Amino acid sequence: MAINPKQTPRGAAILDAVRRAARQEQFLEVVSAPQARRRFEACTDRSALAGVAVSLAAALGRVLAADVIAPVDAPPFDRSNVDGFAVRAADTVGASDGAPKRLTLNAEVIACGVAPAIEVAPGTATAIATGGVIPRGADAVVMIEQTELIDGGPAIELRRAAASGQFVSYAGSDIARGETLLRRDTQIGSREIGMLAACGFAAVDVVRRPRVAVLSTGDELIEPGRPLRPGGVYDSNGAIIAAAIVEAGGEPVPFGAFPDQEVALELAMRSALDSCDIVVLSGGTSKGAGDLSHRVVSRLGKPGILVHGVALKPGKPLCLAVIGDKPLIVLPGFPTSAIFTFHAFVAPIIRARAGLPPEAARTVTARVPVRIASELGREEFVLVSLVAGGDGLIAFPTGKNSGAVTAFSQADGFLAIDALASALDADTMAEVTLIGETERAADLVIMGSHDIALDTVVGALAERGFAARTIAVGSLGGVHAANRGECDLAPVHLVDPATGVYNKHLLAPGLSLVPGWRRMQGFVFRPGDARFEGRSADGALKTALADPTILMVNRNAGSGTRVLVDGLLRGMRPAGYANQPRSHNAVAAAIAQNRADWGVAIEPVARMYGLAFLPIAPEHYDFLLLEARRQRPAVQAFLDVLRDEGTRAHIRALGMEPA
Ligand code: AMP
Ligand code: MG
Repeated sequence: MAINPKQTPRGAAILDAVRRAARQEQFLEVVSAPQARRRFEACTDRSALAGVAVSLAAALGRVLAADVIAPVDAPPFDRSNVDGFAVRAADTVGASDGAPKRLTLNAEVIACGVAPAIEVAPGTATAIATGGVIPRGADAVVMIEQTELIDGGPAIELRRAAASGQFVSYAGSDIARGETLLRRDTQIGSREIGMLAACGFAAVDVVRRPRVAVLSTGDELIEPGRPLRPGGVYDSNGAIIAAAIVEAGGEPVPFGAFPDQEVALELAMRSALDSCDIVVLSGGTSKGAGDLSHRVVSRLGKPGILVHGVALKPGKPLCLAVIGDKPLIVLPGFPTSAIFTFHAFVAPIIRARAGLPPEAARTVTARVPVRIASELGREEFVLVSLVAGGDGLIAFPTGKNSGAVTAFSQADGFLAIDALASALDADTMAEVTLIGETERAADLVIMGSHDIALDTVVGALAERGFAARTIAVGSLGGVHAANRGECDLAPVHLVDPATGVYNKHLLAPGLSLVPGWRRMQGFVFRPGDARFEGRSADGALKTALADPTILMVNRNAGSGTRVLVDGLLRGMRPAGYANQPRSHNAVAAAIAQNRADWGVAIEPVARMYGLAFLPIAPEHYDFLLLEARRQRPAVQAFLDVLRDEGTRAHIRALGMEPA
């Protein structure tokens, strides 16, 4: 519908909004990442916050605010290390098998917790338990096993001399009163808790955790747990940032997600500044339509915005501000950008204020087998997956963009491409900064096209104790990886347009083809669409091609499904042909959401989106196997799992036909 702004006020308002959206303001000054960091650090207090007392039970993981001086000795008294008899060492000199020494027993038994009452006089001994207090007069303990009880005395006989101090732990030998037991800045673990308890502390002073407000903005945001409405996106940033704050030693204070509305956002930010030490907002920062965070921040107080725009990818729209003495950071809305810039700019302040040392970056060197294009003028960080190659580690770009939620969690690390480079050449050795605690070593590397039934196979492998690493790089990416020897198996589904045969044309020396399963491809449309309902795939296609108002959704060149689609169209280019998403899911979503009327996808995906399906032809999903790896236990287990009846039944239940 065309809008004539002169006709209605609503039309005028819409046109105004369109104009605003089309006219993006530019960032005032884009600075380099180190410059941004310097400016921000110069204006922010990075000292540890003051101490608060917490009970020992709540102290785990906290940071000591002050040195702890031992108020008592441990052990608090001279203590026996064994069950035996407290003696005077001098009385035992010369004792041997030939000339045993006899000592009279005192009328006392020193159990744990008993204060001795009788002095050990020359020629006497007192029975004592492990942990018992050494009585006055005694200076050594003999083990019960090395004595003989003489009836009638009562007395004992010793056949060996005892040195002074034998089996005695002296008061303060473990912890001496007045010594520095633990230093400030120590992070409290279970061992530190044990030491504090041994000194009688029920509570301890720890650095207060910085309270960090977490806000999200965006008209599209929906709180997890609620149903997704059309155009809606779950607020994932709020959750991941809150968790990352805990990991950095802070205490997240969730404020929730706000619509892009200046008044409400300003109120929330002011209340966050009042009640918290640091404020983190994500979204509304890219200066596009409805992006308002920087405008709100610029009104909050002095010194205000220090940086807006960093020559960094992902993360260009980052905004760093200080209001009063409180840091306020606006992260880009795109999830990967948000968490990346959080770790680069926010986590270090939280750690510092929490009294924790800067996180030590762990790096490895890895070969990057593919060329990575990069934007000139911005330092670019590329998330990578690491796999073990024949001659060291190989780093693959995860291939997900900064809008992806999973890119960060699925990556093993990232590498940096210099702002002045337009690409990283293939086979460059790069330094990879590791993310996360542990390096995940995989027994099996699978690179290629992803499929839901593959998850079943990987799950069955895990049950047999083999960890598989799947890296979704598409069929063609899998072919390249297999040819370069970078994976064990490459799942592929590419048809040879000349013969119509799947996958066989991809074979090269050293590779063999392991049959996987067949996935029925068909004509997909919304159920109830009278134009297609009740027809065969052929009939539905004819209808679609005859009506110019019917919109198709295509597939990307290089996919097997695209070859099928082109075959069906025989050179025709119906409306929507240029829309070429890269997956069956994207095709189904476009049809389900009315952005297109028909497309070709596989049956299980069509069913998952509640769409109608008319079968056309099966697609073959097989595995290229590197023959050199065939004998590896994990590869053998994989082949075994593929043959397993249970796995095959699972695959069938997903709507595929095992080969
Ligand atoms: P913005 O910075 O507001 O321009 O947002 C850029 C992109 O990030 C948009 O696709 C938003 O939907 C998405 N986004 C913004 N905030 C969030 C959030 N809290 N959780 C998930 N995605 C978000
Ligand atoms: Mg937004």
